[in-house]
Amino acid sequence: MSVAELTIAELQQKLRGKELSPREAVQSVIDAVESGDEAIGAYTHLDREAALAGAEEANPDLPLGGIPIAIKDVINVEGQPCWCSSNILKDKYVAPYDATVTEKLKAAGAIPLGRTNMDEFAMGSSTENSGIQITRNPHDPDRIPGGSSGGSSAAVAGNLAVAALGSDTGGSIRQPAALSGCVGLKPTYGRVSRFGLVAFASSLDQIGPMTKTSEDAALLLNAIAGHDPNDSTSLDEDVPDFSEGIDAGVQGLKLGMPKEYFGEGIEPGVRECVESAIKNLEGQGAEIVEISLPHTDYAIATYYIIATAEASANLARFDGVRYGHRSEAATNLMEQYMKTRDEGFGDEVKRRILLGTYVLSSGYYDAYYLRAQKVRTLIRNDFQTAFDQVDAIISPTTPAPAFKIGENTGDPLQMYLADIYTTAANLAGICGLSTPCGSVEVEGNSLPVGLQLLGKPMDEATILRIGHAFEASNL
Ligand code: GLN
Repeated sequence: MSVAELTIAELQQKLRGKELSPREAVQSVIDAVESGDEAIGAYTHLDREAALAGAEEANPDLPLGGIPIAIKDVINVEGQPCWCSSNILKDKYVAPYDATVTEKLKAAGAIPLGRTNMDEFAMGSSTENSGIQITRNPHDPDRIPGGSSGGSSAAVAGNLAVAALGSDTGGSIRQPAALSGCVGLKPTYGRVSRFGLVAFASSLDQIGPMTKTSEDAALLLNAIAGHDPNDSTSLDEDVPDFSEGIDAGVQGLKLGMPKEYFGEGIEPGVRECVESAIKNLEGQGAEIVEISLPHTDYAIATYYIIATAEASANLARFDGVRYGHRSEAATNLMEQYMKTRDEGFGDEVKRRILLGTYVLSSGYYDAYYLRAQKVRTLIRNDFQTAFDQVDAIISPTTPAPAFKIGENTGDPLQMYLADIYTTAANLAGICGLSTPCGSVEVEGNSLPVGLQLLGKPMDEATILRIGHAFEASNL
Protein backbone atom coordinates (compact mmCIF):
# COMPACT_ATOMS: atom_id res chain seq x y z
CA MET A 1 0.00 0.00 0.00
CA SER A 2 1.27 3.47 -0.88
CA VAL A 3 1.65 6.14 1.77
CA ALA A 4 -0.05 8.51 -0.70
CA GLU A 5 -3.33 6.70 0.08
CA LEU A 6 -3.14 7.68 3.73
CA THR A 7 -4.60 10.75 5.39
CA ILE A 8 -2.32 13.14 7.28
CA ALA A 9 -3.75 11.83 10.56
CA GLU A 10 -3.05 8.21 9.60
CA LEU A 11 0.48 8.92 8.41
CA GLN A 12 1.18 10.96 11.52
CA GLN A 13 0.27 7.97 13.64
CA LYS A 14 2.54 5.62 11.70
CA LEU A 15 5.44 8.06 11.86
CA ARG A 16 5.02 8.73 15.56
CA GLY A 17 4.61 5.03 16.29
CA LYS A 18 7.83 4.41 14.32
CA GLU A 19 6.00 2.02 12.02
CA LEU A 20 7.49 4.05 9.17
CA SER A 21 10.40 6.46 8.93
CA PRO A 22 9.88 9.86 7.28
CA ARG A 23 12.28 8.75 4.55
CA GLU A 24 10.20 5.64 3.81
CA ALA A 25 7.06 7.76 3.78
CA VAL A 26 8.45 10.33 1.34
CA GLN A 27 9.98 7.61 -0.85
CA SER A 28 6.65 5.80 -1.00
CA VAL A 29 4.84 8.93 -2.20
CA ILE A 30 7.59 9.62 -4.76
CA ASP A 31 7.21 6.03 -6.02
CA ALA A 32 3.44 6.48 -6.30
CA VAL A 33 3.93 9.67 -8.33
CA GLU A 34 6.57 8.10 -10.54
CA SER A 35 4.38 5.14 -11.41
CA GLY A 36 0.97 6.83 -11.42
CA ASP A 37 1.33 10.41 -12.55
CA GLU A 38 2.02 9.73 -16.19
CA ALA A 39 -1.65 8.83 -16.55
CA ILE A 40 -2.92 11.81 -14.49
CA GLY A 41 -0.50 14.70 -15.04
CA ALA A 42 -1.01 16.22 -11.61
CA TYR A 43 2.58 17.32 -10.97
CA THR A 44 4.64 19.74 -13.05
CA HIS A 45 7.73 19.24 -10.89
CA LEU A 46 8.77 16.75 -8.23
CA ASP A 47 11.53 17.85 -5.89
CA ARG A 48 12.90 14.38 -5.07
CA GLU A 49 16.30 15.26 -3.62
CA ALA A 50 15.14 18.13 -1.44
CA ALA A 51 12.16 16.09 -0.21
CA LEU A 52 14.32 13.09 0.70
CA ALA A 53 16.90 15.35 2.34
CA GLY A 54 14.09 17.00 4.32
CA ALA A 55 12.87 13.57 5.39
CA GLU A 56 16.25 12.73 6.91
CA GLU A 57 15.84 15.63 9.30
CA ALA A 58 12.11 15.38 9.91
CA ASN A 59 10.79 15.28 13.46
CA PRO A 60 7.48 13.39 13.63
CA ASP A 61 6.64 15.06 16.93
CA LEU A 62 6.13 18.39 15.20
CA PRO A 63 2.51 19.11 14.15
CA LEU A 64 3.15 18.02 10.53
CA GLY A 65 6.53 16.36 11.07
CA GLY A 66 7.55 14.25 8.08
CA ILE A 67 4.32 14.81 6.13
CA PRO A 68 4.95 15.42 2.40
CA ILE A 69 2.72 18.13 0.90
CA ALA A 70 2.14 18.91 -2.79
CA ILE A 71 1.97 22.64 -3.51
CA LYS A 72 0.13 24.43 -6.32
CA ASP A 73 2.51 26.00 -8.80
CA VAL A 74 1.42 29.54 -7.83
CA ILE A 75 2.94 29.47 -4.32
CA ASN A 76 6.67 30.17 -3.95
CA VAL A 77 8.84 27.38 -2.55
CA GLU A 78 12.47 28.44 -2.40
CA GLY A 79 14.62 26.65 -4.95
CA GLN A 80 11.67 25.13 -6.81
CA PRO A 81 10.13 26.37 -10.05
CA CYS A 82 7.03 28.55 -9.63
CA TRP A 83 5.75 28.87 -13.16
CA CYS A 84 2.05 29.37 -12.49
CA SER A 85 1.73 26.87 -15.36
CA SER A 86 2.54 29.72 -17.73
CA ASN A 87 4.92 29.84 -20.68
CA ILE A 88 5.93 33.30 -19.60
CA LEU A 89 7.70 31.76 -16.57
CA LYS A 90 8.35 28.20 -17.75
CA ASP A 91 12.03 27.18 -17.55
CA LYS A 92 12.88 30.74 -16.55
CA TYR A 93 11.82 31.26 -12.95
CA VAL A 94 12.97 29.52 -9.79
CA ALA A 95 11.48 30.86 -6.56
CA PRO A 96 14.13 32.83 -4.65
CA TYR A 97 12.16 32.75 -1.38
CA ASP A 98 9.48 30.88 0.52
CA ALA A 99 5.90 32.10 0.64
CA THR A 100 4.72 32.59 4.22
CA VAL A 101 2.60 29.42 3.97
CA THR A 102 5.64 27.46 2.79
CA GLU A 103 7.69 28.80 5.66
CA LYS A 104 4.93 27.88 8.09
CA LEU A 105 4.57 24.38 6.64
CA LYS A 106 8.30 23.85 7.00
CA ALA A 107 8.24 25.19 10.55
CA ALA A 108 5.50 22.65 11.32
CA GLY A 109 7.78 19.90 10.01
CA ALA A 110 6.07 19.29 6.64
CA ILE A 111 8.06 18.51 3.50
CA PRO A 112 7.25 20.33 0.23
CA LEU A 113 7.11 17.55 -2.33
CA GLY A 114 6.57 19.21 -5.67
CA ARG A 115 4.52 21.59 -7.76
CA THR A 116 1.04 20.78 -9.01
CA ASN A 117 -0.47 21.77 -12.32
CA MET A 118 -3.08 24.53 -12.60
CA ASP A 119 -4.81 26.81 -15.06
CA GLU A 120 -2.35 29.48 -16.12
CA PHE A 121 -2.15 32.10 -13.35
CA ALA A 122 -5.13 30.32 -11.72
CA MET A 123 -7.51 31.51 -14.45
CA GLY A 124 -9.88 28.72 -15.30
CA SER A 125 -12.12 25.96 -14.04
CA SER A 126 -10.66 22.86 -15.65
CA THR A 127 -6.83 23.08 -15.61
CA GLU A 128 -7.04 22.99 -19.42
CA ASN A 129 -5.58 26.51 -19.51
CA SER A 130 -2.25 25.21 -18.21
CA GLY A 131 0.63 26.13 -20.51
CA ILE A 132 2.46 23.01 -19.35
CA GLN A 133 0.21 19.93 -19.55
CA ILE A 134 -3.25 18.43 -19.28
CA THR A 135 -4.38 16.98 -15.94
CA ARG A 136 -6.91 14.14 -15.99
CA ASN A 137 -9.65 13.33 -13.53
CA PRO A 138 -8.69 10.22 -11.52
CA HIS A 139 -12.28 8.93 -11.90
CA ASP A 140 -12.35 9.21 -15.70
CA PRO A 141 -9.24 10.04 -17.73
CA ASP A 142 -11.34 11.71 -20.45
CA ARG A 143 -12.61 14.31 -18.00
CA ILE A 144 -11.17 17.41 -16.37
CA PRO A 145 -10.24 17.40 -12.67
CA GLY A 146 -11.73 20.88 -12.16
CA GLY A 147 -9.65 23.99 -11.77
CA SER A 148 -7.73 26.01 -11.31
CA SER A 149 -6.13 23.83 -8.57
CA GLY A 150 -6.75 20.69 -10.66
CA GLY A 151 -3.25 19.28 -10.17
CA SER A 152 -3.65 19.43 -6.40
CA SER A 153 -7.14 17.91 -6.42
CA ALA A 154 -6.17 15.12 -8.83
CA ALA A 155 -3.04 14.36 -6.79
CA VAL A 156 -4.99 14.06 -3.53
CA ALA A 157 -8.02 12.24 -4.95
CA GLY A 158 -5.85 10.04 -7.19
CA ASN A 159 -3.63 8.94 -4.27
CA LEU A 160 -0.56 10.69 -5.59
CA ALA A 161 -0.34 12.97 -2.53
CA VAL A 162 -1.29 12.77 1.12
CA ALA A 163 -2.44 16.40 1.01
CA ALA A 164 -1.90 19.56 -0.99
CA LEU A 165 -2.27 23.32 -0.99
CA GLY A 166 -4.41 25.16 -3.52
CA SER A 167 -5.56 28.72 -4.02
CA ASP A 168 -9.14 29.95 -4.39
CA THR A 169 -10.08 33.24 -6.04
CA GLY A 170 -13.54 32.27 -7.27
CA GLY A 171 -13.76 28.59 -6.38
CA SER A 172 -10.41 27.14 -7.40
CA ILE A 173 -10.02 25.02 -4.26
CA ARG A 174 -13.65 23.98 -3.74
CA GLN A 175 -14.63 23.32 -7.36
CA PRO A 176 -11.72 20.97 -8.23
CA ALA A 177 -12.13 19.29 -4.82
CA ALA A 178 -15.77 18.61 -5.74
CA LEU A 179 -15.02 17.38 -9.27
CA SER A 180 -12.02 15.22 -8.34
CA GLY A 181 -13.46 13.91 -5.07
CA CYS A 182 -11.50 15.36 -2.15
CA VAL A 183 -11.97 17.96 0.58
CA GLY A 184 -11.10 21.60 -0.18
CA LEU A 185 -11.19 24.52 2.22
CA LYS A 186 -11.13 28.19 1.26
CA PRO A 187 -10.36 30.06 4.46
CA THR A 188 -11.84 33.47 5.27
CA TYR A 189 -10.15 36.29 3.36
CA GLY A 190 -7.26 37.39 5.58
CA ARG A 191 -7.04 34.16 7.59
CA VAL A 192 -4.00 32.93 5.63
CA SER A 193 -1.16 35.13 4.38
CA ARG A 194 -0.95 35.71 0.64
CA PHE A 195 2.72 36.69 0.79
CA GLY A 196 4.50 34.62 -1.83
CA LEU A 197 1.29 33.62 -3.61
CA VAL A 198 1.52 34.98 -7.15
CA ALA A 199 -1.40 37.41 -7.24
CA PHE A 200 -4.37 36.88 -9.56
CA ALA A 201 -7.08 39.05 -7.94
CA SER A 202 -5.70 40.38 -4.67
CA SER A 203 -9.01 41.16 -2.99
CA LEU A 204 -10.28 37.60 -3.60
CA ASP A 205 -7.27 35.24 -3.46
CA GLN A 206 -6.84 32.84 -0.52
CA ILE A 207 -4.58 29.82 -0.04
CA GLY A 208 -6.12 26.73 1.52
CA PRO A 209 -5.84 22.97 2.18
CA MET A 210 -6.87 20.20 -0.23
CA THR A 211 -7.05 16.94 1.68
CA LYS A 212 -8.74 13.57 1.98
CA THR A 213 -10.75 14.57 5.07
CA SER A 214 -11.95 17.65 6.96
CA GLU A 215 -9.86 16.44 9.89
CA ASP A 216 -6.76 16.81 7.69
CA ALA A 217 -7.91 20.21 6.42
CA ALA A 218 -8.00 21.36 10.06
CA LEU A 219 -4.46 20.08 10.62
CA LEU A 220 -3.17 21.94 7.58
CA LEU A 221 -5.08 25.11 8.42
CA ASN A 222 -3.61 25.04 11.93
CA ALA A 223 -0.17 25.19 10.33
CA ILE A 224 -0.75 27.91 7.70
CA ALA A 225 -3.20 30.34 9.35
CA GLY A 226 -2.30 33.52 11.15
CA HIS A 227 -1.28 37.14 10.86
CA ASP A 228 1.71 38.02 8.72
CA PRO A 229 3.30 41.48 8.72
CA ASN A 230 4.27 40.84 5.08
CA ASP A 231 0.59 40.78 4.02
CA SER A 232 -1.32 43.86 5.09
CA THR A 233 -4.62 42.12 4.37
CA SER A 234 -3.91 39.25 6.73
CA LEU A 235 -6.01 39.58 9.86
CA ASP A 236 -4.45 40.05 13.24
CA GLU A 237 -6.76 37.68 15.09
CA ASP A 238 -6.21 34.66 17.27
CA VAL A 239 -6.02 31.36 15.45
CA PRO A 240 -7.97 28.67 17.28
CA ASP A 241 -6.94 25.02 17.20
CA PHE A 242 -9.17 23.84 14.36
CA SER A 243 -8.78 20.20 15.34
CA GLU A 244 -10.23 20.80 18.76
CA GLY A 245 -14.00 20.33 18.79
CA ILE A 246 -14.07 19.05 15.20
CA ASP A 247 -15.92 15.95 16.42
CA ALA A 248 -18.57 17.89 18.36
CA GLY A 249 -21.26 16.82 15.87
CA VAL A 250 -24.01 18.95 14.32
CA GLN A 251 -26.72 18.59 16.96
CA GLY A 252 -28.41 21.97 17.36
CA LEU A 253 -26.67 23.69 14.44
CA LYS A 254 -28.90 25.65 12.09
CA LEU A 255 -28.04 25.16 8.42
CA GLY A 256 -29.44 27.39 5.67
CA MET A 257 -30.35 26.05 2.23
CA PRO A 258 -30.31 29.03 -0.16
CA LYS A 259 -33.22 28.61 -2.52
CA GLU A 260 -31.22 30.32 -5.32
CA TYR A 261 -28.64 27.48 -5.20
CA PHE A 262 -31.22 24.77 -5.83
CA GLY A 263 -32.99 26.30 -8.85
CA GLU A 264 -32.67 25.50 -12.53
CA GLY A 265 -29.33 24.53 -13.95
CA ILE A 266 -28.42 21.99 -11.31
CA GLU A 267 -28.16 18.46 -12.69
CA PRO A 268 -30.66 16.03 -11.14
CA GLY A 269 -27.95 13.57 -10.02
CA VAL A 270 -26.08 16.34 -8.23
CA ARG A 271 -29.26 17.56 -6.58
CA GLU A 272 -30.05 14.06 -5.32
CA CYS A 273 -26.60 13.64 -3.73
CA VAL A 274 -26.76 17.03 -2.04
CA GLU A 275 -30.31 16.52 -0.81
CA SER A 276 -29.42 13.18 0.68
CA ALA A 277 -26.38 14.73 2.40
CA ILE A 278 -28.68 17.36 3.87
CA LYS A 279 -31.04 14.63 5.12
CA ASN A 280 -28.05 12.90 6.69
CA LEU A 281 -27.12 16.05 8.62
CA GLU A 282 -30.74 16.57 9.61
CA GLY A 283 -30.75 12.98 10.89
CA GLN A 284 -27.73 13.86 13.03
CA GLY A 285 -29.66 16.68 14.68
CA ALA A 286 -29.00 19.74 12.50
CA GLU A 287 -31.93 22.03 11.83
CA ILE A 288 -32.37 22.83 8.14
CA VAL A 289 -34.04 26.11 7.13
CA GLU A 290 -34.63 27.66 3.74
CA ILE A 291 -32.91 30.99 3.26
CA SER A 292 -32.52 33.47 0.42
CA LEU A 293 -29.39 35.07 -1.02
CA PRO A 294 -31.25 37.41 -3.36
CA HIS A 295 -28.27 38.78 -5.33
CA THR A 296 -26.89 35.36 -6.29
CA ASP A 297 -27.68 35.91 -9.97
CA TYR A 298 -25.17 38.75 -10.13
CA ALA A 299 -22.25 36.91 -8.55
CA ILE A 300 -20.63 35.58 -11.72
CA ALA A 301 -20.80 38.87 -13.61
CA THR A 302 -19.53 40.78 -10.59
CA TYR A 303 -16.73 38.31 -10.05
CA TYR A 304 -15.58 38.39 -13.67
CA ILE A 305 -15.42 42.20 -13.62
CA ILE A 306 -13.54 42.53 -10.33
CA ALA A 307 -11.24 39.53 -10.85
CA THR A 308 -10.24 40.59 -14.37
CA ALA A 309 -9.72 44.23 -13.33
CA GLU A 310 -7.35 43.17 -10.57
CA ALA A 311 -5.66 40.60 -12.82
CA SER A 312 -4.97 43.19 -15.51
CA ALA A 313 -3.04 45.25 -12.95
CA ASN A 314 -1.32 42.30 -11.25
CA LEU A 315 -0.09 40.76 -14.48
CA ALA A 316 1.52 44.00 -15.70
CA ARG A 317 4.74 42.86 -14.03
CA PHE A 318 5.22 40.08 -16.59
CA ASP A 319 6.73 42.26 -19.26
CA GLY A 320 9.96 40.53 -20.30
CA VAL A 321 12.04 42.95 -18.23
CA ARG A 322 11.78 41.64 -14.70
CA TYR A 323 10.80 38.00 -14.90
CA GLY A 324 10.68 35.08 -17.24
CA HIS A 325 10.40 34.95 -20.98
CA ARG A 326 11.60 37.81 -23.19
CA SER A 327 10.78 37.87 -26.89
CA GLU A 328 13.74 37.61 -29.21
CA ALA A 329 11.75 39.06 -32.08
CA ALA A 330 11.47 42.64 -30.82
CA THR A 331 13.33 45.56 -32.36
CA ASN A 332 12.32 48.23 -29.82
CA LEU A 333 11.06 48.48 -26.24
CA MET A 334 7.36 48.71 -27.03
CA GLU A 335 7.60 45.72 -29.30
CA GLN A 336 9.49 43.87 -26.59
CA TYR A 337 6.58 44.26 -24.17
CA MET A 338 4.00 43.36 -26.76
CA LYS A 339 5.72 40.36 -28.30
CA THR A 340 6.83 38.99 -24.93
CA ARG A 341 3.28 39.07 -23.60
CA ASP A 342 1.84 37.77 -26.86
CA GLU A 343 4.23 34.81 -26.90
CA GLY A 344 4.16 34.14 -23.16
CA PHE A 345 0.48 34.31 -22.20
CA GLY A 346 -2.21 31.86 -23.25
CA ASP A 347 -5.60 32.86 -24.68
CA GLU A 348 -7.56 32.94 -21.42
CA VAL A 349 -5.00 35.13 -19.68
CA LYS A 350 -5.03 37.52 -22.64
CA ARG A 351 -8.83 37.56 -22.62
CA ARG A 352 -8.85 38.47 -18.92
CA ILE A 353 -6.23 41.21 -19.28
CA LEU A 354 -8.21 42.75 -22.13
CA LEU A 355 -11.50 42.52 -20.24
CA GLY A 356 -9.96 43.87 -17.04
CA THR A 357 -8.28 46.77 -18.81
CA TYR A 358 -11.58 47.60 -20.50
CA VAL A 359 -13.66 47.68 -17.29
CA LEU A 360 -11.07 49.93 -15.65
CA SER A 361 -10.71 52.33 -18.60
CA SER A 362 -11.89 55.87 -18.00
CA GLY A 363 -15.07 55.69 -20.09
CA TYR A 364 -16.25 52.41 -18.56
CA TYR A 365 -14.96 52.49 -15.00
CA ASP A 366 -18.24 53.78 -13.50
CA ALA A 367 -20.44 51.54 -15.60
CA TYR A 368 -18.59 48.31 -14.86
CA TYR A 369 -15.95 48.34 -12.15
CA LEU A 370 -17.60 50.78 -9.75
CA ARG A 371 -20.99 49.16 -10.22
CA ALA A 372 -19.49 45.72 -9.65
CA GLN A 373 -18.02 46.95 -6.36
CA LYS A 374 -21.48 48.13 -5.29
CA VAL A 375 -23.04 44.80 -6.19
CA ARG A 376 -20.24 43.10 -4.27
CA THR A 377 -21.46 44.94 -1.16
CA LEU A 378 -25.02 43.73 -1.80
CA ILE A 379 -23.76 40.16 -2.09
CA ARG A 380 -21.83 40.52 1.16
CA ASN A 381 -24.92 41.94 2.86
CA ASP A 382 -26.95 38.91 1.69
CA PHE A 383 -24.56 36.65 3.59
CA GLN A 384 -24.57 38.87 6.65
CA THR A 385 -28.34 38.72 6.81
CA ALA A 386 -28.32 34.96 6.29
CA PHE A 387 -25.74 34.46 9.04
CA ASP A 388 -28.01 36.31 11.46
CA GLN A 389 -30.34 33.33 11.09
CA VAL A 390 -28.09 30.32 10.52
CA ASP A 391 -24.74 28.91 11.64
CA ALA A 392 -23.67 27.82 8.16
CA ILE A 393 -25.00 27.56 4.61
CA ILE A 394 -25.25 24.30 2.71
CA SER A 395 -25.39 23.86 -1.06
CA PRO A 396 -23.93 21.99 -4.01
CA THR A 397 -20.35 23.06 -4.85
CA THR A 398 -20.96 22.84 -8.60
CA PRO A 399 -24.11 22.41 -10.68
CA ALA A 400 -22.73 19.39 -12.58
CA PRO A 401 -20.02 16.73 -12.28
CA ALA A 402 -16.73 16.91 -14.23
CA PHE A 403 -17.11 17.58 -17.93
CA LYS A 404 -15.06 16.10 -20.77
CA ILE A 405 -11.66 17.48 -21.70
CA GLY A 406 -12.25 19.89 -24.58
CA GLU A 407 -16.03 20.08 -24.07
CA ASN A 408 -16.12 23.72 -22.93
CA THR A 409 -12.84 25.14 -24.17
CA GLY A 410 -14.47 26.94 -27.10
CA ASP A 411 -17.12 28.53 -24.90
CA PRO A 412 -15.68 30.65 -22.07
CA LEU A 413 -19.13 31.64 -20.80
CA GLN A 414 -20.12 28.01 -20.33
CA MET A 415 -16.82 27.47 -18.51
CA TYR A 416 -17.52 30.44 -16.20
CA LEU A 417 -20.84 28.84 -15.19
CA ALA A 418 -18.92 26.08 -13.36
CA ASP A 419 -18.26 28.80 -10.74
CA ILE A 420 -21.89 29.67 -10.16
CA TYR A 421 -22.04 28.51 -6.52
CA THR A 422 -18.48 29.36 -5.51
CA THR A 423 -17.65 32.94 -6.54
CA ALA A 424 -20.01 34.65 -4.08
CA ALA A 425 -18.01 33.39 -1.07
CA ASN A 426 -14.88 35.10 -2.40
CA LEU A 427 -16.76 38.32 -3.12
CA ALA A 428 -18.11 38.27 0.45
CA GLY A 429 -14.77 37.17 1.98
CA ILE A 430 -16.37 34.31 3.93
CA CYS A 431 -14.99 30.76 4.31
CA GLY A 432 -16.15 27.70 2.39
CA LEU A 433 -15.51 23.98 2.31
CA SER A 434 -16.31 21.28 -0.21
CA THR A 435 -16.53 17.65 0.83
CA PRO A 436 -17.45 14.61 -1.29
CA CYS A 437 -21.13 13.61 -1.00
CA GLY A 438 -21.60 10.70 -3.34
CA SER A 439 -21.33 10.29 -7.06
CA VAL A 440 -23.29 10.14 -10.29
CA GLU A 441 -22.89 7.44 -12.90
CA VAL A 442 -21.94 8.88 -16.27
CA GLU A 443 -20.98 6.62 -19.18
CA GLY A 444 -19.85 3.85 -16.86
CA ASN A 445 -17.82 6.02 -14.49
CA SER A 446 -18.72 7.23 -11.00
CA LEU A 447 -18.10 10.96 -10.95
CA PRO A 448 -17.84 12.64 -7.55
CA VAL A 449 -20.22 15.33 -6.32
CA GLY A 450 -19.29 18.01 -3.79
CA LEU A 451 -21.27 19.38 -0.86
CA GLN A 452 -20.44 23.03 -0.15
CA LEU A 453 -20.55 24.43 3.38
CA LEU A 454 -20.20 28.20 3.72
CA GLY A 455 -19.30 29.68 7.10
CA LYS A 456 -19.26 33.02 8.85
CA PRO A 457 -16.09 35.10 8.56
CA MET A 458 -13.34 33.49 10.70
CA ASP A 459 -15.60 30.55 11.56
CA GLU A 460 -13.78 27.79 9.69
CA ALA A 461 -14.19 25.69 12.84
CA THR A 462 -17.94 25.28 12.27
CA ILE A 463 -17.74 24.20 8.62
CA LEU A 464 -14.89 21.80 9.44
CA ARG A 465 -17.01 20.35 12.20
CA ILE A 466 -19.98 19.86 9.86
CA GLY A 467 -17.72 18.40 7.16
CA HIS A 468 -16.25 16.00 9.67
CA ALA A 469 -19.66 14.93 11.00
CA PHE A 470 -20.84 14.23 7.47
CA GLU A 471 -17.71 12.31 6.48
CA ALA A 472 -17.78 10.24 9.68
CA SER A 473 -21.35 9.11 9.02
CA ASN A 474 -20.80 8.55 5.34
CA LEU A 475 -17.92 6.07 5.48
N1 GLN B 1 -12.73 29.46 -12.20
C1 GLN B 1 -12.58 30.79 -11.70
C2 GLN B 1 -11.83 31.63 -12.70
O1 GLN B 1 -11.59 31.14 -13.75
C3 GLN B 1 -11.91 30.79 -10.38
C4 GLN B 1 -10.44 30.74 -10.44
C5 GLN B 1 -9.79 30.72 -9.11
O2 GLN B 1 -10.45 30.61 -8.07
N2 GLN B 1 -8.49 30.90 -9.14
O3 GLN B 1 -11.50 32.75 -12.49
